[in-house]
Amino acid sequence: MMKRIGILGSTGSIGKQALEVIARHPAQFSAEVLTARSNYTVLIEQALRFRPSSVVITDESCREAVQSALAGTGIEVRSGSSCLGEVVSGDNVDMVLTAMVGFAGLMPTICAIKAGKQIALANKETLVVAGDLVTQLARENSVQILPVDSEHSAIFQCLAGERNADVEKIWITASGGPFRAFSADKLAKATHTDALKHPTWNMGAKITIDSATLMNKGLEAIEAKWLFGLEPDQIDVVVHPQSVVHSLVLFLDGSIKAQLGLPDMRLPIQYALSYPDRLPGSFPRFSFTEFPALTFESPDLLRFPNLTIAMEVMRKGGNLACIMNAANEVAVDAFLNDRTGFSGMTRIIEKTLEKATFIENAGLIDYIESDFEARSLALSFV
Ligand code: NAD
Ligand code: MG
Repeated sequence: MMKRIGILGSTGSIGKQALEVIARHPAQFSAEVLTARSNYTVLIEQALRFRPSSVVITDESCREAVQSALAGTGIEVRSGSSCLGEVVSGDNVDMVLTAMVGFAGLMPTICAIKAGKQIALANKETLVVAGDLVTQLARENSVQILPVDSEHSAIFQCLAGERNADVEKIWITASGGPFRAFSADKLAKATHTDALKHPTWNMGAKITIDSATLMNKGLEAIEAKWLFGLEPDQIDVVVHPQSVVHSLVLFLDGSIKAQLGLPDMRLPIQYALSYPDRLPGSFPRFSFTEFPALTFESPDLLRFPNLTIAMEVMRKGGNLACIMNAANEVAVDAFLNDRTGFSGMTRIIEKTLEKATFIENAGLIDYIESDFEARSLALSFV
């Protein structure tokens, strides 16, 4: 049966690779909704090729350009962030791929879940900010949240046919990022140009910086807690520079399952879109002889304190992950714009966590307010 996909953030790294997957399987998938923030040139190209029923450009100043390029095609053009949730909740959409960056992905994802759409989740910040609320809404609406993040796709695949109660712990693998071998001194001088050279994955700017600070692994630990219903003590991170073992699960009897493959996001994207089926893929195959050694080491928490911060935040709960996420978004943006250095990002996050209002049992409004408060605080610390 044809699955009609709405893509939130179709012009980004995940969005583009998802469209490649859709193009390779025209009998299985169609792209019904495409959305972007401001990259209207790519959005127009995608719309002319994939013929969705609607496109959204959230930056209002780009609407005119999209409207005139798509005139006469019958494709509905909308603008502004407020319509994102509505366009992916229509009857013409079966599944929503959340591939926007940051907190901005939360509201449209909630709308899609309330409308009963299956979710292929790339936007990990949604679960970091409001994992309790989002997973509860998903249960209430019989919506399955299928992981796109490669580590979570790996764990999901390892858990197939298993009982969650039989899981002792999981390891999320980390490439270690571009600064794995940097000394503390060298790290202090690292620039965003250095950080954007990721050794194994080619991704959007925000997640690439998060990978360089290891905050990405902290976000992924929190994402895993909510996706798989785990306790913080059951979640560990191991550095594996080859990025071939995508994550592992240890079961109560001592048996370990791992999922392996070449680092290629099209694989987890395709699995989330096609689940529970597996579709043929002509992606390059892994060769054991080309990778005679797969290595593992502990993350260095002294050089990469953001991972420790995130693990603590996960343990303490409440709205702390929401606060941390907002501060991190501000810090990464500041780093990308030369307004803070590498360790400045950690300072901004720590100070914001210290000052922002703690809420033990937060609801949606609390999360929105916490995000706002934390962003203002973080900006004042840049
Ligand atoms: P990206 O920056 O390449 O693309 C982001 C997309 O979202 C673009 O289409 C952009 O126009 C849109 N967008 C961004 N901010 C927006 C806003 N405020 N309002 C409306 N649209 C907005 O990002 P990416 O690397 O594709 O990552 C997307 C998400 O997937 C992130 O949450 C990231 O953590 C996660 N993820 C990415 C990868 C990867 O390989 N890139 C892997 C795992 C998880
Ligand atoms: Mg990942």
